[in-house]
Amino acid sequence: MTIKSSVDSCVKLKLLEGGYCTHKEKMVIRGGINEDVKFHSMFALIIHPTEGVILYDTGYTKRFYQETNKFPYNLYAKITPVYVKDEDTAISKLRSMNIQAEDVKYIIISHFHADHISALKDFPKAKFIYFKNGYDKVKNLKGFFAVKEGFLSGLLPDDFIERSIMIDSEKDQYKIKNIEPFEQAFDYFGDGLIKFIPLPGHYRGHLGALVQGENNQKYFLIADSCWLSKSFKENILPHPFANIIMDNSNKYEQTLNKINTFYKNNPDTEIIPSHCNEIYNKYIGK
Ligand SMILES: [Zn+2]
Repeated sequence: MTIKSSVDSCVKLKLLEGGYCTHKEKMVIRGGINEDVKFHSMFALIIHPTEGVILYDTGYTKRFYQETNKFPYNLYAKITPVYVKDEDTAISKLRSMNIQAEDVKYIIISHFHADHISALKDFPKAKFIYFKNGYDKVKNLKGFFAVKEGFLSGLLPDDFIERSIMIDSEKDQYKIKNIEPFEQAFDYFGDGLIKFIPLPGHYRGHLGALVQGENNQKYFLIADSCWLSKSFKENILPHPFANIIMDNSNKYEQTLNKINTFYKNNPDTEIIPSHCNEIYNKYIGK
């Protein structure tokens, strides 16, 4: 594997799609239409100049179907109809770019919903980076409690803990100066190229990543802090019904407010919600 970033003060970032699900648009944004629309599950391939291949999330795999074929886990599949074929998965997408599973050194996990972690088992050498409090909340959940959190423990590799790099947002390790208006930032790699920012609300320990890309382009991967770009641009909340899947709706609102402020103060940074069609059409195509 010889892909290297050309300039060492940046990474290469490429957005990819790992399947999609459908939801009524009115659920994800107030004023949305009452029709099923596709929500692509995007993840990011990051080529770091010294660390190599890093993923931010993984998209779906067909393991989602296996893990949701029994009650009560099938409720998850009923609420969220998922469409993924083998050729849509992260491992297939990477192979088509001549990147093998073993080449992936790190996977940054934004949160533990199935659309973000379904492919973890495909990458045997990857270390997993995530905020500790998110995993602590779900690690022992089973049955309905797990479904409520959208957590399917069978998606985690058996050696998940041994390969984990947990970042404790209560501690100072990896902590760097905050990035306004957010209160905390962490830099595991220590080079300023990928900064982790807690974006609480959607899920406990929800992790955003501010990435220094090529040509001085910055990307802010915000996962499910909102589902559409319009939401952070105009500060529009989802349908109140969506609150039932949220860890904390007050924090969700505060985070959305902060992303809206960040957007106004940093108009050149590309802010990327994982499921936004506008971003999907711009970077991946219909
Ligand atoms: Zn998601």
